[in-house]
Amino acid sequence: MKKFLSIINILFLLVLGGLLFVWIDREIENKRIREARPLPSGLHNIVEEKSVELVEQANKIGIPILITDGFRSIESQNEIYDQGRTSSGAIVSYAKGGESYHNYGLAFDFALLNQDNSISYDLQRDSNGNGEADWFEVARIGKDLGFTWGGDWRGFKDYPHFEYTLGLSIRELQNGWRIEDKIEESN
Ligand SMILES: [Zn+2]
Repeated sequence: MKKFLSIINILFLLVLGGLLFVWIDREIENKRIREARPLPSGLHNIVEEKSVELVEQANKIGIPILITDGFRSIESQNEIYDQGRTSSGAIVSYAKGGESYHNYGLAFDFALLNQDNSISYDLQRDSNGNGEADWFEVARIGKDLGFTWGGDWRGFKDYPHFEYTLGLSIRELQNGWRIEDKIEESN
């Protein structure tokens, strides 16, 4: 009887070991696939569609806006990071190349449009006269569309900035994770 039990135990351990091996093998393969993924070269189509939606919805309530910036290459992100540090001007970003959601096509910036088509960063402007600042109305529409808004950040606030992350961190994006992985996960 004792001997029989130990055979069962050995079989159990073998099966467990086999399953573990299959799991590790699959994880290594997934990691390899992720790391081979190229960096995006433009705004993600979901983000693109949602940015169009944001412009349309803002327009509908009398707030014309302009998307001022979307996808950024690593080089252009580094140039923006250098501004106020090794090049002239004020600091505008705390993210180096590869550290911003802009680099993965998941972020864009906006500004308000004046009647003469110049842009405005006036957070208090209330051009539709409804008693609420235009900027914050746009922020609310963006958040309803699923974006994280830079004006909600603690510390440095990036009022023109929206990003669509589905919970992915910059570290995960650097390791090749993409929002498609999150969409797959939730299905
Ligand atoms: Zn931004």
